[in-house]
Amino acid sequence: MEPFKVHILGCGSALPTLQHNASSQIVELREKLFMIDCGEGTQIQLRKSHVHFSKIIAVFISHLHGDHCFGLPGMISTFGMTGRTAPLHIYAPADFEPILSQTLNFFCQGLEFKVVFHAVNTKQNKVIYEDKSLTIETIPLQHRIDCCGYLFREKPTLPHIRRDMIDFYHIPISQINNIKAGADWVTQDGDVIPNSRLTTPAAPARSYAYCSDTRYIKTLYNLVKNVSTLYHESTYAAQDADRARLYWHSTSEQAALVARDASVGKLLLGHYSARYGNEQQLLEEAKEIFPNSFLTQEGAIFDI
Ligand SMILES: [Zn+2]
Ligand SMILES: [Zn+2]
Repeated sequence: MEPFKVHILGCGSALPTLQHNASSQIVELREKLFMIDCGEGTQIQLRKSHVHFSKIIAVFISHLHGDHCFGLPGMISTFGMTGRTAPLHIYAPADFEPILSQTLNFFCQGLEFKVVFHAVNTKQNKVIYEDKSLTIETIPLQHRIDCCGYLFREKPTLPHIRRDMIDFYHIPISQINNIKAGADWVTQDGDVIPNSRLTTPAAPARSYAYCSDTRYIKTLYNLVKNVSTLYHESTYAAQDADRARLYWHSTSEQAALVARDASVGKLLLGHYSARYGNEQQLLEEAKEIFPNSFLTQEGAIFDI
């Protein structure tokens, strides 16, 4: 199976700590890299992760709080120094465009690659990116300012050919693509060999949903139903649920409710408040509701 992974570059919240970096992740699918959020210091985390800078096609910013976007100008400046020529696509709320272009015009004159801005409507659930391998759609969230998550859906792959059957029935190479596409095979004697005998089904298409800063949304599970892996912010422990509501964030229990109601494969927790010495309590509270929950950590890589 082709790799589909998420690299955690930062999973802390707004207040800097020695334990965690600000939000950023890399989604890797079939040799392509997409960044989600780019908090301050992301480029250092990128260096540590040994991810190839040049393979990053696009950056998706969830919202315009500094812990999700302060790292972008510095990273773009570094891309300029490392000889990038391929365009870099930025998907973010529209208000970011004038800020970013003014910053780049001032600090990054003479970049040898294009920075292409795509304004994202955070209030819509809509496909905003598509190529032959995947689609990426927005997930409207509820935060103090406009905010959305991003859902990466792998496109289904074709079934696998059974080599032994192809040889057995002497099927010519020229017919392989038709059979992959679902055709049966008719022998010289007129016997129909059903496609199901000639192929094995492709692995089910995988999906990854990144739900950035948000208040608990009871109906969110509808948009992330059955995803293979869900990342959902879990800034607070259950005892601080009032605080979560006040600041438009979630507890790890609330993240787990979304995972449970959506029947996802696994849940990744992150965006931890600096008030907890470690996140074990957050994990235990999530697991009470959704056992297949995991803490993210800088440097961790999860298979989707
Ligand atoms: Zn944040
Ligand atoms: Zn925020």
